[in-house]
Amino acid sequence: MDIILQIKGILENKSSFAISQGVEKRFTEDYPFGRNIRGAFGYLAKDLGLAIKDIFPDLKDNSIIFRDAIPLCYKCLEPYLPDLKNSTLKYICAKCNQEYLAVKSRSRTSAVRLDRTMNSVNNFFNFNVIFRPNLYRFKVLLNMKKGEKLLEDLLTIILFIQENGLFMGRRHAKGLGHFALKEFKTEIISLEEIKRIDLTQKELRIKLISDTIFQDSGFNNFILKPEMVKDSIQECLKFYNLEPQFDIDLTSKNTPLYPPVQLSLLNYLEDTNNFKTIETKAARRGITYTFETKRYDDRAVVGLSLLTQGFGIGRYIGLGQGEIYIG
Ligand SMILES: [Zn+2]
Repeated sequence: MDIILQIKGILENKSSFAISQGVEKRFTEDYPFGRNIRGAFGYLAKDLGLAIKDIFPDLKDNSIIFRDAIPLCYKCLEPYLPDLKNSTLKYICAKCNQEYLAVKSRSRTSAVRLDRTMNSVNNFFNFNVIFRPNLYRFKVLLNMKKGEKLLEDLLTIILFIQENGLFMGRRHAKGLGHFALKEFKTEIISLEEIKRIDLTQKELRIKLISDTIFQDSGFNNFILKPEMVKDSIQECLKFYNLEPQFDIDLTSKNTPLYPPVQLSLLNYLEDTNNFKTIETKAARRGITYTFETKRYDDRAVVGLSLLTQGFGIGRYIGLGQGEIYIG
């Protein structure tokens, strides 16, 4: 039974880029997030006059999931997984343990701001950019149960990007933030082909690969609780039109508590041609939560495996939030 269409490829920055987040506009993030890629796709869909454009203004639409463009290990081409320990965020290749040193890719640039009413240069300003060419993961998932009709338009956009590149981040109209899609392949994954999570170790380690927005955003709720994992499995099974019944006994073993990060999600409002910013808080990427698994059935294994490879935890999964890694 085919359930996921996966488009996997490699992005390379052809220019410096600056991905800003929230109020700190002078700082750049290390890589474009799923939501940045989704935003760029939304613009292209509109420009190219494709029917798929209608899904983009609804940030809760998960029928296409845009994963974060995590840097790829230059040796193995595997993503560097975020790892948060003692408040320090590192990126480590899961295959060869090589660390990605984001700081080596950073530099400062300056730009001028023109005062259009006075027709003069008004001031100079500095901001951080990632200047070094790196390879990044491009991964887009389409739920075959819901989105098969979106496939043709989605591939049209991807072929357009292959020809013209993708522009993201600050001053992308001025030549910054130019990414090339070096290669991509399309793969249909059936339920039987989903890689099975091994629960026989009795210890389940869930790492947040992207910032994760939990359903209930009260300050004390930035830890992943067993009920949240179970709710997510259930939501994931429903999302793929599978029976949401399963049995798993999970207890928390190690629940690190870090202050949440502030996220601003840009919502494009088609009627007014304007943007609305949704301010929210998220559990930080790189945190690993450990659970003890005493009892589980086969459907729980299927659910957890699908949760990792085809869905995520919490809200705004289509934007790339809530991606997890188990291992
Ligand atoms: Zn590696």
